[in-house]
Amino acid sequence: MKKIGIIGAMELEVEALKSKMTIERTVEKASMEFQEGTLNGTAVVIVRSGIGKVNAALCTQILCDVFEATHIINTGVAGSLKNEIDIGDIVVSTDTLHHDVDVRVFGYPLGEVPQVGRLAFPADEHLVQLAVSSCKEVNPDIRAYQGRIVSGDQFISDKKVKEHIIENFQGFCVEMEGASIAHAAYLNHVPFVVIRAISDKADESAETAYPVFEKAAAAHSAALVEHMLPLI
Ligand code: SAH
Repeated sequence: MKKIGIIGAMELEVEALKSKMTIERTVEKASMEFQEGTLNGTAVVIVRSGIGKVNAALCTQILCDVFEATHIINTGVAGSLKNEIDIGDIVVSTDTLHHDVDVRVFGYPLGEVPQVGRLAFPADEHLVQLAVSSCKEVNPDIRAYQGRIVSGDQFISDKKVKEHIIENFQGFCVEMEGASIAHAAYLNHVPFVVIRAISDKADESAETAYPVFEKAAAAHSAALVEHMLPLI
């Protein structure tokens, strides 16, 4: 039976989904509250992981081990890395990578974790297509892009840092959890997708833009997730 693990880094990224689900049990582990039940007729486990790559990886492993999630979806907000991708738009991951890993001294490309055997973690194509088609139905006014999402333990709000990330990784947006969720899902052979709505432009304007737009952006992404669940 399918059971979808849904991760948001912050409460505002999962609160709408949690409020709509029927909760069967709540399990606390690693200081995270996992709520298991059904949403839109689908078995789900919804959890706030906390911010950053360590929290997100831990959370993903628990979804795999304790709940035996068959699919993992990460919903949330991100900073845009492309001029044409504006605040409110959505990016669905084709793949994700760690922009803050650097072991070039031993011959690895920038971003590649040694001995994992790959630079980027590919998202499940079926989940990607469902996310894109769901976006057209749920948020017809919002553009959904498919592309690479890059992650690191940094909030990007500096044009120079943003340019460095764009030049080296060709990402569509940047955030702080997606690659570690993807990395953990990949190691566990669990299909995943990262869905992010843009809250800021990952430059100096982010400091003021982010607090204004995070809530609406998070809601766009969550609405899309809710819609795609029965189609998985
Ligand atoms: N406001 C929070 C911190 C948010 S950190 C607090 O005060 O505790 C930013 C969150 O949004 C992360 O979960 C990250 O995944 C995402 N995010 C949005 N814009 C980002 C950007 N420009 N750079 C990195 N992460 C970003």
